[in-house]
Order: sequence, then C-alpha cells, then structure tokens
Amino acid sequence: MRISDKFGIPHISTGAFFRDQLERNTDLGQRIRKYMETGSLVPDELTCEVVEDRLKQDDCRAGYVLDGFPRSLPQARILDQMLAKRGERLDLAIDLEVPDDEIVNRLTARRMCPVCGKIYNLKFNPPASDGGICDRPACTGQLVTRSDDREETVRARLGIYHEMTAPIIEYYTGHRLLRSVEGDSLGPDGVFKRVESILSGLKRV
Ligand code: AMP
Repeated sequence: MRISDKFGIPHISTGAFFRDQLERNTDLGQRIRKYMETGSLVPDELTCEVVEDRLKQDDCRAGYVLDGFPRSLPQARILDQMLAKRGERLDLAIDLEVPDDEIVNRLTARRMCPVCGKIYNLKFNPPASDGGICDRPACTGQLVTRSDDREETVRARLGIYHEMTAPIIEYYTGHRLLRSVEGDSLGPDGVFKRVESILSGLKRV
C-alpha cells in the first residue's frame, strides 16, 4: 500500500480482491470460500483470470504492484505469458524474508477494520482505543481477526507457501528478477525504505 502511494501506481492484492468477493457473497465468493477458509490456494486458472481482468483497467497503464501473486510456478509462467501478450515484462520480484515463527506471531496479532480495510497489529501498530475501534477519522469499525489468521490456519498457509510458492524464488532468481529484503529485524519503516530504494533505482534505469 505504501509503495503504491509513493509511486502512484495501483496496489493489486489478489487476497484483498478475494476477501471482498467473499464478504459480498458474489458467485465468485461462493466458489472460493472453501479455499480461503482453509488457507489453501484458489485454483491457478481462476486466480490468473482475475489478475488478467484487473490489468486491463486504465489505471494499470503506468505500472502496478502485484501483492500475493504469483503464488505458484504455474501462476508465474501464466503471468509471463499474460505480460508478453501486453508487450510488457516484469521489472522485479521482491521476496520479503521473515522466519515462520515470526510470521505466526505477526499474523495472529493482526486485526483488520471491516469497514475501511485498515490493518492493525496488536503488538506493533495497535489501535488507539482499548475497545478495538478503528482510528481512521469518521470510521467507527470494530476491528476483527481475519478467519485465516487463526494459528492453525496460518501454519497450514505456511505449509502451502513452502510447497507451492517458495519454488518461484528459484524461478525469478533464474530470470535475474529477484531481490530479497530482510523483513524480520528492519521493522515496517526499514523494510519500506529498502524496497523504496530498490524501486527508485529501477525507475532511473
Ligand atoms: P492474502 O491476503 O494474500 O494472504 O491471501 C488470502 C487468501 O487468498 C490465501 O490464503 C488464498 O486462499 C487466496 N489467495 C490470494 N492470492 C492468491 C493467489 N495468488 N493464488 C491462489 N490463492 C490466492
């Protein structure tokens, strides 16, 4: 989100898109519910269709940040084909490196405002009020825990990450597109600065 604000390009999060479909109980939401609730991956074909449609919108002409996509080797390959058809190619893939136990700590402490979507963390970025009400001016949302942030679901998601998603690190390393950023000790501002400097270097090329 901060990268998107800084560089003035849209933030495309497949997870946020799918959550919105679930909340609105659309046809797509009903089809993906079982995957989302167990922390499994939504099928590649469906996920790639969603991304391809999104990239057709005008705001994507000057670039975009893909967040949480691709998440499997087939998705990475389909993305390459999708971009080739558009006469584009990926500039960079950023891997934020955080140990599994720290991910469990962070995600189980994550809270979300269901009204405006603002993300909090009880340890690192708690809401101002003890009652768990969103801080945004004029927003009175009662913060909630995402159903897939329960510890057992987070551990299941990590298992899927290591099996299905981690192989794309090698894929992008082979394509000389991967940049790794240490996401454990730098803190949110430190990670942002690091990513910002990588992307700023890219813009000058
Ligand atoms: P996230 O908000 O990125 O953690 O995603 C939440 C959930 O949405 C994941 O656990 C998956 O069920 C689904 N999802 C998000 N992105 C993808 C993707 N690229 N491929 C398959 N499923 C996804």
